[in-house]
Amino acid sequence: MSTIIYPSPIFGPVHSRRLGISLGINLLPADGKVCSFDCIYCECGFNKDHRPRLPFPTREEVAKALEEKLREMADDGQLPDVLTFAGNGEPTCHPHFAEIIGDTIRLRNQYCPKAKVSVLSNSTFIHRQQVHDALMLVDNNILKLDTVDPIYINKVDRPTGHYDVNSIISRMKEFHGHVIIQTMFMRGCSDGESIDNTGDAFVAPWLEAIRQIAPQQVMVYTIDRETPTEGLLKATHEQLDAIKARVEALGIPCQASY
Ligand code: SF4
Repeated sequence: MSTIIYPSPIFGPVHSRRLGISLGINLLPADGKVCSFDCIYCECGFNKDHRPRLPFPTREEVAKALEEKLREMADDGQLPDVLTFAGNGEPTCHPHFAEIIGDTIRLRNQYCPKAKVSVLSNSTFIHRQQVHDALMLVDNNILKLDTVDPIYINKVDRPTGHYDVNSIISRMKEFHGHVIIQTMFMRGCSDGESIDNTGDAFVAPWLEAIRQIAPQQVMVYTIDRETPTEGLLKATHEQLDAIKARVEALGIPCQASY
């Protein structure tokens, strides 16, 4: 299976299904993956197959590379719609994540004030006050919540350390609506066991958590690229549309990506 390891600290711009013309900011090493999850569907592959040798980019390196790229894009007359923190793992695990968000907002204001700053995170560091405060400053604070079922989480998201989904949900509530919840729905099997989370047994308790978190938006999506695990299947359009309708019935906007 082919997986993707992104350049660091800047990649793209790329056209994102969910975000428009997006300039990527990858706070992880350029030669591997660092994540506090090890999702069976991760487009970067399994953690064990991509251990990096290089260090994390420094705060200074990120700011310099971002400024150079924004200057180049301004000269070409093609500015980004969004600056997206994503890439080879979990951006909020960078020790200077908060400072880098500050630098990025400053550069955004200087070069492309209309662009949004988005962070795609698996939520595992939102208990850190500095991470919470930095995420409150970005336009799109996109946090992963694939399910509320701990067995499913251990089978599919596979946290590498302690992970308590109820505590994560409590922390998500502390954003007071300044949060977008992103959820992967899929079907199929892994190691002979079903990983289908499209049925009511998974969707109903997840919806209850969504109701409590009261996010500004929900994004539901499914597998789009090759995965390191064989046997995973896309959720169907009909399934995603049905889930979307149930979120919208709560009065919360929902975007489905097929
Ligand atoms: S949280 Fe994202 S980067 Fe981390 S393993 Fe899962 S899909 Fe990959």
